[in-house]
Order: sequence, then structure tokens, then C-alpha cells
Amino acid sequence: MSQSVAGGTKVAKNTSVNYEVSKGKEVKDVYIGNAEQNGSSESAVTSYFTNKGLKVSRSEQYHDSVPKGNVISYSPGNGSTVKEGSTVNIVVSSGPKPVETVSLQDLTGMTQANAENAIRNAGLSVGSQSTKPSSKPAGIVLDYSPRGNVKPGTAITLVISSGPCKDGSHTPDANGTCTVCGTTGLAVTPPRGDGSTENP
Ligand SMILES: [Zn+2]
Repeated sequence: MSQSVAGGTKVAKNTSVNYEVSKGKEVKDVYIGNAEQNGSSESAVTSYFTNKGLKVSRSEQYHDSVPKGNVISYSPGNGSTVKEGSTVNIVVSSGPKPVETVSLQDLTGMTQANAENAIRNAGLSVGSQSTKPSSKPAGIVLDYSPRGNVKPGTAITLVISSGPCKDGSHTPDANGTCTVCGTTGLAVTPPRGDGSTENP
């Protein structure tokens, strides 16, 4: 503080005395508008704030629709007024949350009991089962679904062999393969003529 007349000086009534009061360093107000006006990338939004004399603190979150590296939100938000030099918090997307999956081993050729154990040990559940004649012994897993990487708890459907046709009563096709169970190398009976009209 300073004044135009030294302290202790006698002056006439109504003499004007000029003085100044120090106000210290003035801190400017900063208006926050649309921080994504130059795009939603972390760098664009960060530049927006630093250009206004603000500091940026960042954190990350998974987000289903905001692409990885883009800003999900900022706080204080659009329309706020803050002091120059204050900190704005931005939340940056780290992309969608990864879906946890389980890798299921190949079950084909396993016994039904072993396959069911493998399914449960992988954190999955045993789904519906059906049987189908095949050249494999009864009780062997022929097929299953879904395959590969699946979500935990998924029900796995099994197709189990009911074995070859009973008593060897196969139904061979022209190549000696049973059309019911798939057993190969069967005798072709009864004879089907010279075959010239079957495979033109
Ligand atoms: Zn058969």
C-alpha cells in the first residue's frame, strides 16, 4: 500500500489523499465450453484444456461404445467456470471390457463320462445330449457344440455314438459304406447290376 502523503503529516481538512491497495496476482476465470470441438481424442481434449491454462488429470474406464483412446467425459463439464491453473479430470476409454472366455479341449473320441468331466472342469455345463448310430463304439462323443473359446457357464451339447447297427444288419451303399452308421468296407449286397445308370 502506498499513499501520496507521508504518514504523520498534518494536512488541512478535506485534502484529498491518493492511495493504492495491492490486490496481489489476479487469478483469471476460465470458461469451459465444448472440450471436444476438435475431436474426442485424448490429445485433442487435453490440448483444449492446456491451451486455456488448465491442468489435466486422466483416468481410464472400459466403455462399450466410446472407442479406445477417446474421452468419455470431463469434469468440471461444459458450461463450468474454473480458476486458471486448476485441474480438469478427464476419463479416457480403454475400449470395451474384454469378454472372458474358456478354451474347451477337443471332446471328439472321448467317452461320454470323460467329456462331461472335461466340460465341468473347464467351468462349463453339460447341455442336451443326443445319440446317433456310428462306426464308433457306443458312448463315444461324435460331435459337440459350441466349440473353441466360449463364455464361462456355456452349455455344451453332445452327440454320442449309439454304436454300429446291431447284429451287423447294415445298409451298405454302392461303395460299401453303411448309410445308417457309417461303417465302411462292407460287402455290397444285393448286386446293383453293372452300375452304369447309377453314376452317369
Ligand atoms: Zn450300419
